Amino acid sequence: MKVAPRFGPGHRVLVTGGAGFVPSHLVDTLVARGCTVVALDNFVTGSKDNVAHLHDKPNFTLVEADISDGLPTHHPALAERFDAIMHMASPASPTDFATLPVEILRVGSVATLHLLDRAVADGARFLMASTSEAYGDPKEHPQRETYWGNVNPIGVRSVYDEAKRFSEAATMAYHRYRGLDAAIVRIFNTYGPRMRPDDGRAIPTFISQALRGEPITVHGTGNQTRSICYVEDLVRGILLLLDSTETGPVNCGTEHELTMRQLAELIVSLSGSTSEVTYVTRAADDPEMRRPDLTLARELLGYEPAVAPEDGLRRTIEHFRERLG
Ligand code: NAD
Ligand code: UDP
Repeated sequence: MKVAPRFGPGHRVLVTGGAGFVPSHLVDTLVARGCTVVALDNFVTGSKDNVAHLHDKPNFTLVEADISDGLPTHHPALAERFDAIMHMASPASPTDFATLPVEILRVGSVATLHLLDRAVADGARFLMASTSEAYGDPKEHPQRETYWGNVNPIGVRSVYDEAKRFSEAATMAYHRYRGLDAAIVRIFNTYGPRMRPDDGRAIPTFISQALRGEPITVHGTGNQTRSICYVEDLVRGILLLLDSTETGPVNCGTEHELTMRQLAELIVSLSGSTSEVTYVTRAADDPEMRRPDLTLARELLGYEPAVAPEDGLRRTIEHFRERLG
C-alpha cells in the first residue's frame, strides 16, 4: 500500500539529534519537502558540519541544547507547536556505551519523557528511533516485532538496550493512556556518508583502516552477522512510517546479512586496499546474528530497500576517501 506524505509545507517538525548521522539525512529530506524543521542537538556525537549546507535555508533552524535537561522552550524556534516530533537523539556506537553510559541512559529516559509531554501538549505525531538492540542477542532469527528479546539488563550494552526499551515502553504508555499519535521504528545496522570515521562501529572502522592500509580489526572469529542498510533506504522507511498512522513497532533495515569477516573482505576489495584482516578480542554480549523480518514494513508501509551492499559501501568509501584525504 502506498502511503501519501502526511508532513510537508506548512508543517513544523522537531528532530532531536538532528546534527547526527541518520537524523541529518532525515532533516535533508524534510527540509527539501518544505517542512519547517528544527534540529536540536548537543553535538555529543554529532557535528554542525552535517547540517552546515542547510544554514541559509529559511525553513531550517539548528538549536544547541541537551534535551536530557529539558526542552529549551525559551528559544523562539521552540515556542510554536510542532506537528511532528522525531526523537532520534542518542549516542549509538557500542564504544559510546563505555564512554557515555549515563548520557545514553538519560537521553533514552528523561529526554524521552520531556519530548512525550511536549508531543501530547502539541497534539503532534511522535516518532521514536528504537533499535534492533531491543532484541539483544536474539534467540529468534530473523527477528520479528513480536519477539521480546534476549537482553542482559546489567551487561555492558544494557545502558543502550534498556534505555531504548524504556523509551518504547514510555511511548506505548503515552499512546495507550494519553492519546498520543505515536510510532516506533526499530532500526537495524545502517551506514553511509556522515558517519564518523572513528566512531568505533564496524563499517566506518573497516573503511578507515582499509583506506589507511592498516590491519582490519575483526572482533572474535568474525562469524557473527549483521544485516546492513544504506542510509538512503532507512530514511525512506522512517519517513514512510512517519507519514502513516501506524504505531508499530516496525523493523527497518535490509535482509543483506553478512558475517563480519565477509564484510571486512568486501570493504578491502571495494576500496582496492592491501590491508590484511586480523582477529582481535570481542566485547561481551555482542549479538551473534541479526536480520530483520521486514514483513510488517512491507505490508503496512510498502517499504522495500533498494541499495545493494556493494553500491552503498562504494558510495560510503568514496565519502570517507574525500574526508580522510
Ligand atoms: P549519531 O550519534 O550520529 O546521532 C545521534 C545524535 O544525537 C548526535 O548528533 C548527538 O550529538 C545527538 N545527541 C545525543 N544525545 C543528545 C542529547 N542529550 N541532547 C541533544 N542531542 C543529543 O547516531 P546515528 O547512528 O545517526 O543514530 C541516530 C539514532 O538512530 C539514534 O537514536 C540511534 O540509537 C538510532 N539507531 C541507529 C542505528 C544505526 O545503525 N545507525 C541503529 C539503530 C538505532
Ligand atoms: N566489529 C568488529 N570490528 C570493529 C568494530 C565492530 O569486528 O572494529 C564487530 C562487532 O563486534 C559486532 C559487529 O562488528 O559483532 C557490528 O558492530 P557495530 O559496532 O558496527 O554495531 P552493533 O551491531 O554491534 O551495534
